[in-house]
Amino acid sequence: MRIDDNKCIACGACLPVCPMAAITLEDVAVIDHDECVDCGVCSRSGLCPVNAFVQDESEWPRSLRSVFSDPTSTHAQTGVPGRGTEEMKTNDVTGVFKPGSIGIALEFGRPGIGTRFHDVDLVAQAMAKEGAQFRPENPVTFLMEDTATGKLREDVLNEKVLSAIIEFTVPIENLKSVLAILPNVSQQVQTVFSVECINVVEPDGSVPMDKILEDMGIARYPNGKTCLGLGRRPVEGDN
Ligand code: SF4
Ligand code: SF4
Repeated sequence: MRIDDNKCIACGACLPVCPMAAITLEDVAVIDHDECVDCGVCSRSGLCPVNAFVQDESEWPRSLRSVFSDPTSTHAQTGVPGRGTEEMKTNDVTGVFKPGSIGIALEFGRPGIGTRFHDVDLVAQAMAKEGAQFRPENPVTFLMEDTATGKLREDVLNEKVLSAIIEFTVPIENLKSVLAILPNVSQQVQTVFSVECINVVEPDGSVPMDKILEDMGIARYPNGKTCLGLGRRPVEGDN
């Protein structure tokens, strides 16, 4: 995204809507292009009285920013809009999760902090070592140069997006080691991520992952989220 200097009247109306706080006011409004995730919110908000926002066509790998950050964008290769397949959020409507396995989604980034792909890469590689089978139709999987190792392509690592989701399955016996290493991995990333798990309920109504979670002292929150990693970005005036 860029601002047309010749149009901007420095009214400041756009500053509060940017989820990355990437717009500052000088003689005219200025966008920090390294922080901007091309989400399009500033433009779509309609707040600019002079229509100064311009979204130019981006080249690879910059083009990934809008694909992952702008919900009106669709991933060209996968046809998936936004960040991931979100199959787990729709309660497995296509039956991809099988008895004996656990589906796991890790959601990186939030408004205010976003995520760079080098953090996604670090966690994906850690999960691959735990036997993760990455979902092929997920946009992050598409960026992997090797799905066996979880390694992402080198040229995308510095790209910043509002949010990205890794989706994978592991055998249920691997759930414990996956959950055990995530707190350590979260200390190494410069963003937040949440962890979601799904498994097929037994015919008697019991939930296979419950015993593992109980043994680890982890409470299960149906449809809940727990963020790991850094907190929100400090703002001026915070102690
Ligand atoms: S496109 Fe999004 S991140 Fe970039 S300046 Fe506009 S609101 Fe901020
Ligand atoms: S809302 Fe438009 S005119 Fe006002 S500061 Fe932002 S870009 Fe400039």
